[in-house]
Amino acid sequence: MLVTDFHPTGRHFLQIPGPSPVPERVLRAMSLPTIDHRGPEFAMLGKKVLRDVQRIFQTIQPVMIYPASGTGAWEAALVNTLSAGDHVLMYETGHFAFLWNKLATRLGLKTEVLSLPGMEGWRHGVQAHLIEERLKADTAHSIKAVCVVHNETSTGVTSDIAAVRRAMDAAKHPALLLVDTISGLAGADYQHDAWGVDVSISGSQKGLMLPPGISFNALSAKAIEASKHATLPKAFWAWDEIIEMNKGGYWPTTPNTNLLYGLSEACDMILGQGLEAVFARHQRWAAGVRAAVRAWGLPIQCADEKVYSPILTGVMTPEGVDADAVRKIIHERFDCSLGTGLGKIKGRMFRIGHLGDSNDLTLIATVAGCEMGLKLAGVRLAGSGVQAIMDHYASHPVALPLQAA
Ligand SMILES: *Cc1c(COP(=O)(O)O)cnc(C)c1O
Repeated sequence: MLVTDFHPTGRHFLQIPGPSPVPERVLRAMSLPTIDHRGPEFAMLGKKVLRDVQRIFQTIQPVMIYPASGTGAWEAALVNTLSAGDHVLMYETGHFAFLWNKLATRLGLKTEVLSLPGMEGWRHGVQAHLIEERLKADTAHSIKAVCVVHNETSTGVTSDIAAVRRAMDAAKHPALLLVDTISGLAGADYQHDAWGVDVSISGSQKGLMLPPGISFNALSAKAIEASKHATLPKAFWAWDEIIEMNKGGYWPTTPNTNLLYGLSEACDMILGQGLEAVFARHQRWAAGVRAAVRAWGLPIQCADEKVYSPILTGVMTPEGVDADAVRKIIHERFDCSLGTGLGKIKGRMFRIGHLGDSNDLTLIATVAGCEMGLKLAGVRLAGSGVQAIMDHYASHPVALPLQAA
């Protein structure tokens, strides 16, 4: 079988919450010839993308760009700031928070997990008051870092990071705040500096509309200071040499040049439209998809409307209906990929991604595929999600003009 056989006719609907579809503009930019990563042209590219990603993280502090998936940047954040046996407080909102904890444990950190009891933790956002209570009880300041996931991609919940910062400040606790915004960045509002985050972690293949293969650490002065004393082994991930080389627009090792062309192009698209427009568009898409799910009469995985994700929506299937069997029908019959349920909610829900290079009709078609698939799987639906999403988009015109004046 040839790779081209995977691309029959029309366009595949890649509606998983990352990797998200890559715009043709970005793919074309990536097809430029690879250049000398120590040459003068490269420095211009390097400086530009470093500046652009700072604007996307809403920071004026250094941002590391790694040729790695998001998991690498998780590891980088921990090994640069912590020492073996350090006590780390991790809030579990879902499977990605769970995996980050697993990684931290493998690195030799002593993790403590906070969450709501039972399934509730995976249906709500980070409860900042639980973090505040725990930190207040830690009068010896043994907790060195608090780790939270901004947009929990396994459930469709976007936690309030500013509230976590306020809770840490209220507890007058010096722990570092490490935040995974791998799927949140460039889809949901994210303010590294204003929210007082010490290390923000992100990746290329979600809101940034790039293929997988780049990930990020945005730093704070406090995190950089911590990295000078932290003793977990770090070599490839070490910030110090990268910060030094980045001043000239270079990296100590070979960067993935063609992905950086893509990053430059994606930043031009996102910053050219303005972050406000990008965030508003995702909120509007998400509201339309949720209107469809409600019309079907199916529960949304996120049980708190204040923290609905603008990036993806988790759809719970009725008792006795295997969500993966529904996904399989939709994939085989309608060439549409949806996100599977991860971890302890496998088979109980599927995820509709509504991020990046999308538009109203793409999402209406996706909902149509889901609706047909659910019916074919024998699910009795309360009403038409397709009608609901059409009604929503038709009656909610885009808040901001498509083109900046
Ligand atoms: C995608 C994702 C990850 C994992 O990143 P990889 O690129 O697969 O290593 C981690 N956290 C969140 C919230 C994600 O969405």
